[in-house]
Amino acid sequence: MRLDRFLAETTDLTRSLAKKALHRGEVSVNGVVVKQPATHVGDEDRVEWDGQPLALVGLRYVMLNKPADVECSARRGLYPRAVDLIDLPSAERLQTVGRLDVDTTGLVLLTDDGQWSHRVTSPRRRCAKVYRAVLAEPLAGAALDEAVRRFDEGMLLDGEEKPTLPARLAMLGPCEAELILYEGRYHQVKRMFAAIGNRVTALHRESVGPLALGTLPMGEWRELSDAEVAEFA
Ligand code: URA
Repeated sequence: MRLDRFLAETTDLTRSLAKKALHRGEVSVNGVVVKQPATHVGDEDRVEWDGQPLALVGLRYVMLNKPADVECSARRGLYPRAVDLIDLPSAERLQTVGRLDVDTTGLVLLTDDGQWSHRVTSPRRRCAKVYRAVLAEPLAGAALDEAVRRFDEGMLLDGEEKPTLPARLAMLGPCEAELILYEGRYHQVKRMFAAIGNRVTALHRESVGPLALGTLPMGEWRELSDAEVAEFA
């Protein structure tokens, strides 16, 4: 691979900043300063930038149990970003697979494999996402039966033209609901409960398809196993 591309893939430098670093003589290959961006480097070459060895890393796949007040955003904003919690080399390259709201906790997947991310979020896959929601008002009796029916039939949310896909609602306690969605629209869980006259006061995602948080503590992350990655091959 070309040296400027190697630098861009192993550091936070863009290709043009990599060329500038090369021009400044900051990069060496096998102990010799190299300034030409087109120089070819292979697996056997030892590349250093400012004396730090660089190595290509493979694609990474991570699950995070996101706490509240953490954003699923690539840009720095008011809150820390999900990617800031991941202590891996070049974690900046990871992107969240879909998003949770800043106040929603639970399972967030992150990867630098755009195609894998696309497969997880593809509406065609109808991947089940399990949420636990705490509601402002208890839901039981006839109102619950009506909510189960409306969620199951699909409902038209404000400003949308297509009804939601059938969703499964079950109550775990008077104000605690489990909702299984097969799609991921903007604020979908909160909007669905608002549509039946209730309000979500806390929201947590347990799983995405076969990938579940299990015992992963809040704020912690782990890399996915090969078998877990292969679930979305
Ligand atoms: N639905 C919501 O309303 N918020 C989320 O974060 C995820 C699903």
